[in-house]
Amino acid sequence: MFDILSVIPGKKKLTHSGWHSFNAICCSHRGHKADRRMRGGIKFDGNNWSMHCFNCGYTCNFTLGRSIPQKTRQLLLWCGIDDLEIKRWSLESLQQKDLLDFTQQPKKKVKIKFKDHELPEGELVDRNNELHKVYVDYVQKRCVSTDEYPFLITPNEPGRMSNRVIVPYTYKGKIVGHTSRFLDDRTPKYLNEQQPGYVFNIDMQKPEWTVCILTEGIFDALSIDGVAVMHDDISTEQAQLLSTLNKTIIVVPDRDKTGLQLCDRALELGYQVSLPDWDDDVKDTNDAVVKYGKLPTLLSILHSATNSKIKIELRKKQIGKQIGI
Ligand SMILES: [Zn+2]
Repeated sequence: MFDILSVIPGKKKLTHSGWHSFNAICCSHRGHKADRRMRGGIKFDGNNWSMHCFNCGYTCNFTLGRSIPQKTRQLLLWCGIDDLEIKRWSLESLQQKDLLDFTQQPKKKVKIKFKDHELPEGELVDRNNELHKVYVDYVQKRCVSTDEYPFLITPNEPGRMSNRVIVPYTYKGKIVGHTSRFLDDRTPKYLNEQQPGYVFNIDMQKPEWTVCILTEGIFDALSIDGVAVMHDDISTEQAQLLSTLNKTIIVVPDRDKTGLQLCDRALELGYQVSLPDWDDDVKDTNDAVVKYGKLPTLLSILHSATNSKIKIELRKKQIGKQIGI
């Protein structure tokens, strides 16, 4: 099959979060300024990929076994590929269908699907841009690098909207939602556009990892390379999605009342729970990473992980006392 990365002209950079970034070619064709800041991104899921432009918002994708969709065809034309060649690739892809059906037969029963989601039109947070300093500082204060995840901002929108960091949600490389974290002190702190059953940062879980750290919040997940349910409960749909990872799941709840209740749900699902011996002022995983660093936090999580109900009950009581509930 054709190799999209060699079709797209120019330099490519593979980011920590699995995006291959490059100067997007769509923008100038769509009435936007040409991209010079590597705002085009491609994410792979096996043979399949999807492309998202963080400059003009263009998206398209490719699935082996299906014909090449119109928007992808357009991208290939912009790359200078001949129409006849695209038709040939499309046919080649379709021909793989029977083979794929045959080899992939007895797999998962649950079909997990999320609808495509449109991100607000914004700018990608750029560490080297002086005007982005306040946003970069915020993300770095939470011990997350702006190079590791594509954060967006909308500095020209009115009011609060200019003062937020947007975190895109992806599933198998496709944009399926986003959250806005406002940087003022007002509530709500987050405005979440999440589809039911979605688990944040699931795309970042590497196949070779045996463990998946499950947290409650976005920045907890980002700072420890874990996932987040973005709630103080784990829904059945989220559990289904997590089961596709085939990993040992370690739940690290926030140190509050609802967090401690999450422990029961975790045990019910057969997950491990970790309640490390952190200082009183540490309220969640992100606080711990900020205070102790990523590796010490990870080690303390792994060290305290257990599925023993007795041990967990004991720790819950200790922490309950610590936080006064
Ligand atoms: Zn573009």
